[in-house]
Amino acid sequence: MDELYCSGCGALIQSDDKAKPGYIEETVLRDHNPKDLVCQRCFRIRHYSDVITTCLSNDDYLNVINRISHENALIVKIIDIFDFTGSFVPAIKRLTGNKDVILVGNKMDLLPKNVKQEKILSWLKMMLANEGFTVLDSILISAKYGDNFEDLMNMIYKYKGDRNVYLVGSTNVGKSRIINQILRRYLGAESDVVTVSSNPGTTIGLIGFPLNDGTKIFDTPGVINKHQYTHYLTRPSYKMTVPKKEIKPLIFQLSEGQTLFFGGLARIDIINGETGDRINVVTYFANTLNVHRTKTDRADELYATKLYSLLTPPFNPEEAVPKWVSHDFKIRDNLKYDIVFSGLGFVTMRGPFSIRAYAPFVVGVFVRPAII
Ligand code: GDP
Repeated sequence: MDELYCSGCGALIQSDDKAKPGYIEETVLRDHNPKDLVCQRCFRIRHYSDVITTCLSNDDYLNVINRISHENALIVKIIDIFDFTGSFVPAIKRLTGNKDVILVGNKMDLLPKNVKQEKILSWLKMMLANEGFTVLDSILISAKYGDNFEDLMNMIYKYKGDRNVYLVGSTNVGKSRIINQILRRYLGAESDVVTVSSNPGTTIGLIGFPLNDGTKIFDTPGVINKHQYTHYLTRPSYKMTVPKKEIKPLIFQLSEGQTLFFGGLARIDIINGETGDRINVVTYFANTLNVHRTKTDRADELYATKLYSLLTPPFNPEEAVPKWVSHDFKIRDNLKYDIVFSGLGFVTMRGPFSIRAYAPFVVGVFVRPAII
């Protein structure tokens, strides 16, 4: 039998191991038109929104990436603008070498509409400079609504010359959705070809689509960044936590000894010992996530007694997240900073301030210059 590939995720079709990528039952394989084959996993994701875990070994992943590193290609690096640090994955620099890179900030529809794109772009430039990462150009898009795709395509054609194009990024930044937009808008596809799912790690193999000039654009498997909160959530918690619509920021005036809970997933305490001032705290989380304010000296008890009822998600002990640890942040200047809970959201405050943030030990908690 010729080698067949799943048109949803790019995995090599096989009928030997249900747990591995590309599985199709032998009988289905016999009666099917090889052109529109999708593996059982993609079929179930499309039709039942199922959560199915498949293992892509490190070796398989490295094989895929190796192919890119040996080619003179244009890299389109995608990040989730709502989670820059969590989705940036500096290791991609090692994998893609010194290739030409365009940076794409996806999911701009999640940021409040009154925020100027130029402001976000100059913030991105500053963040890239901090990472020591050089790019040819950068752009903001929304794969959900197709915003700025014309500019993105012009940018790709401007820089690619006669080279292939590879879309890279961490899982869930929206790569599959971007490819589908490109295919539908510019390459004549009638429906979604690549499987889009909110389960991390959906894209398995290397799927290439011909561009008008004979070169190809490839979707690649996402690098899993273990510091993102989303990897530790069950399906019901995930649904409440991942923002789907424009985020409506909440503003709190907090003083020393006050605490905010973000569902039962994270917490910040205002310490502010030196200044004692009240501070404005602006929170950017999914609108469905409940933010609860309390006194710090009651917070531990509240967490012990009201987790799964007042403080949700998680909704029950089976959905419990890994053990929390605390991180202290002390800012002395009067600039604005974000405290980021990777994959969950962030809070913005103007210095000087002193706060303590809590989240599971596996989740990245960072401070960065404010995006907004
Ligand atoms: P991949 O893992 O990088 O291929 O990401 P997917 O394309 O599968 O998308 C991951 C999740 O992010 C899905 O739930 C998408 O619906 C969502 N998503 C992708 N692009 C956007 C976007 O532009 N805006 C919003 N709000 N969500 C997006």
